Amino acid sequence: MGHFDRGVQGLVVLAAVLLGAGRHPSASADETEGSLTSSRETREARAASRPPARTAAPRLRLVWIDVLDSAPYAFEGAARETSAILADAGVVAAWTLGDSSTVTAADELKVVLMAGVANGARLPEHVMGGTRGGGQSHTTWIYLSNVLWALGLKEEPTRRLSLQEEEQVARALGRVVAHEVVHAVVPDLVHSHGGLMAEKLGRAFLVQARAFLGPAEQKALRAGAERYAAAGEPARAPLTLAVAGH
Ligand SMILES: [Zn+2]
Repeated sequence: MGHFDRGVQGLVVLAAVLLGAGRHPSASADETEGSLTSSRETREARAASRPPARTAAPRLRLVWIDVLDSAPYAFEGAARETSAILADAGVVAAWTLGDSSTVTAADELKVVLMAGVANGARLPEHVMGGTRGGGQSHTTWIYLSNVLWALGLKEEPTRRLSLQEEEQVARALGRVVAHEVVHAVVPDLVHSHGGLMAEKLGRAFLVQARAFLGPAEQKALRAGAERYAAAGEPARAPLTLAVAGH
């Protein structure tokens, strides 16, 4: 696997095209935990038609935390891919490159890249990402080793990845991140039978030219992102004044 010391700290804000509109109501669900398992099955991408432009787009603040610096080459490409998928849904992604000591704000979503799945974690085999359910979540975990496995890049762990493979990993990570961002922001959305929100994503989907959310998922993500940003605003506690007088 290729390791390069070019993980530069700093703020990277990716400009995004403001697009989006959905026609279907969001799916309701009973799922409490969203996890994304990799698979080598071939899955067809669902082609989503480009939605018409709109003026106001909610903004999601995402913080990339590569705990062990296991894929410093991947941040830019992964962030670009996630941002493109979110932009197609009419959501603007604003990325920060952080590290394990980064303290995040209330309206930020931490994207934590783990080298592998920790022993003892009750996670499905080959899980590529996981987000706690039950409500909007501010942390999501991405498991690099299983993304590499899904891409077929794990057979020779000592071999350094080519630049092309690094780009492939970055783009695949960006898709897994987008999938998990949807879970974090829209906790009640169910998995779809195909496409980006399928429970399993195989190599064919991870390497194909483009990935989209479905129209109903895009609409749900926009609505969720609006709530997500609002939740980070300082709460206005009711002001009670005790006025002395007689
Ligand atoms: Zn999932």
